[in-house]
Amino acid sequence: MEIKFSKQGAEEQNILIVPVFAKTDKLTGRLAELVDNGEFEANLGEICTDVSAGQKSVFVGLGEKGKLNPELAKTAGGKTWSGLGVIGDKSVGLVLDKNLRPNLALFLIEGLLLRNYVNLHYKTGEEAEKSQRKLLTSLNIIGGVDATFKKRLQEIIKIVDAVHYARNLVSAPSADLRPEDLANEAAKLSHTYNNITFEALTKKELQEQGLNLLLAVNRGSAYEPRLIILQINREKKEKPIVLIGKGITFDSGGYNIKPSDSFLEVMHTDMAGAATVLATIKALAELGSKKKVIAVIPATENLISGDAYKPADIIRSYSGKTVEIKNTDAEGRLILADALSYAIKNFEPSYVVDLATLTGACIIALGFRYAGLLGNDLELQKNIKSASVNSGEKIWALPLDDSFKDQMKSPIADLANLSSAGRFGGASTAAAFLAHFVGETPWAHLDIAGPAFQSKETEAWNPPTYATGFGVSLLVDLIQK
Ligand SMILES: [Zn+2]
Repeated sequence: MEIKFSKQGAEEQNILIVPVFAKTDKLTGRLAELVDNGEFEANLGEICTDVSAGQKSVFVGLGEKGKLNPELAKTAGGKTWSGLGVIGDKSVGLVLDKNLRPNLALFLIEGLLLRNYVNLHYKTGEEAEKSQRKLLTSLNIIGGVDATFKKRLQEIIKIVDAVHYARNLVSAPSADLRPEDLANEAAKLSHTYNNITFEALTKKELQEQGLNLLLAVNRGSAYEPRLIILQINREKKEKPIVLIGKGITFDSGGYNIKPSDSFLEVMHTDMAGAATVLATIKALAELGSKKKVIAVIPATENLISGDAYKPADIIRSYSGKTVEIKNTDAEGRLILADALSYAIKNFEPSYVVDLATLTGACIIALGFRYAGLLGNDLELQKNIKSASVNSGEKIWALPLDDSFKDQMKSPIADLANLSSAGRFGGASTAAAFLAHFVGETPWAHLDIAGPAFQSKETEAWNPPTYATGFGVSLLVDLIQK
């Protein structure tokens, strides 16, 4: 994305984006006409396009001035994109006037850039070409902005790139992104940035180390699992921040197979947590972050074969605790449990955040726009909440206490992977299972099953196909603050 800044030059743009507050008194020219005619009211996210003298104006409603906040500005920016239409090599300008505060203008641009995404990987011919020509590749910012604005905009561009990278990974079909491919993606980041180091435990190494929960989930698959470990600023003496991302590259449910009307056709996105974590490391590298961060990704398919794990199996985890398998579709918590105990034992983190498309129960509770937030540390939760306000990515705290932890005990093993209370409180009981593997280390769990994946209720800055890249901006904000 190329950005140019100028004080003037609005009339020279082929396409001109003009943000407008509702109920503004001093409108002039064509805009005043459109408002007087009632064709445009400047409600939030309302788009009105008008062509005159060879220039296409895209008026973007910002709603009432006193009500605009970061999230709404991002929404308006996201809606703007479709108003641009086919861009090709046309010049695109954005007029900023002093009515729109700089920080809100930045959120508007962020929303526009986030929405400026098409996945062309599997399209061919004319349609691919047309989609390509809709992409914005250069933007002229017209109006006085200061150095802080310019610096922050460059950061936003890097974060948005990382979000797009996460979306590409999540949208990839499972045949194109098996655990080893995911490891190769992580390795590529270590080749691109010299402060990133990569390793991945192979099946044999996982067996030697005893990550048996990850290995159990993997047994139905013809492809090896991996425990991917990507470190940035490894040489620093401080305790690292550990990010853990669920990397199920396809989830059939195993022998508790998912019915075909139960999102089975999108289960290649069950590695969205892994993608977010990799993209966050990429963004941190691009931003020149000095923080020591380790991404840990347990990656496997969850399939069926003559050797696949079965309900009633009892598995000895990496931590030593035994787990009774009551449902093979509750596999995410199993691989996360081994990853959590491995990371906490070997890296002694200052805190851990895991992200996982973990439970349908979280979608039932919160819908598609909110991630569930759970954990054992209120301070960390508070920091994640404020990062979420800054990024416009919504989260909502759900309860996790000892009664939920008790529900995860098994009569014949230490733990069971399904609650004794059945499906009730499913997002909390899944997190409670993880809590048994965490101990005292400050830990937060984000259940992103809803917002990782597009739905009709998706945010305006997300594309209408598959992945959203939820959590990258939030994690970057959390780590950098
Ligand atoms: Zn599952």
